Amino acid sequence: MMATELKGRDRWNWVFDTGWRGVCPRCHKGRMFSHWLKVAETCEECGLDYDFAAPDDGPAFFSLCFVAFPLLFLIVWFEVAINPPWWVHIFVSFPVMLVPCLLCLRPIKGWLVASQYINQAQEAGTGALWADLHARARGEDEETEHKESAEH
Ligand SMILES: [Zn+2]
Repeated sequence: MMATELKGRDRWNWVFDTGWRGVCPRCHKGRMFSHWLKVAETCEECGLDYDFAAPDDGPAFFSLCFVAFPLLFLIVWFEVAINPPWWVHIFVSFPVMLVPCLLCLRPIKGWLVASQYINQAQEAGTGALWADLHARARGEDEETEHKESAEH
C-alpha cells in the first residue's frame, strides 16, 4: 500500500503512524531522521529525496500551542490550588512544561513532513513526481491505467 493512494481516514492514520514512528513517508521502512530533529537527506530503504520536507518552525509552533499552553493552565491551577513555594516551580513546573514539549517536537515534525509528502505527491498531478510514485505503486507495466489516474 502506497501513501499516495490512501484516502480520508486511512491517510490520516498513515500520516500519524509515519510521524509517530519517525519513518519514511513512502516506504515506511527507512528512518526519517538522521539525528534528533534532523531530517535525513534521502531514505536509506527506497531512496526518497527529503528535499520536499521544509517544516521550518512548524514543530516548535505546534508544540507550543498544543502542549505548552495546556500545561501552563495546569501549572497556574497548581499555583492557585496548592500555592506551593517558589522553588517547586523550578523543580516541578518547569520540567513539566519543557520535557513534553521536547518529546513532542519529533513526532510533530514527522507529521508535518509526512503530510507535506502526501500533499505534494497529490498536487503534482501530471507532474513527474506523481507519475514516478504511481508507477512504483502500480507496477511499471500498467502504462494506460497509470496515465488515466494521473489526470485526476
Ligand atoms: Zn523510504
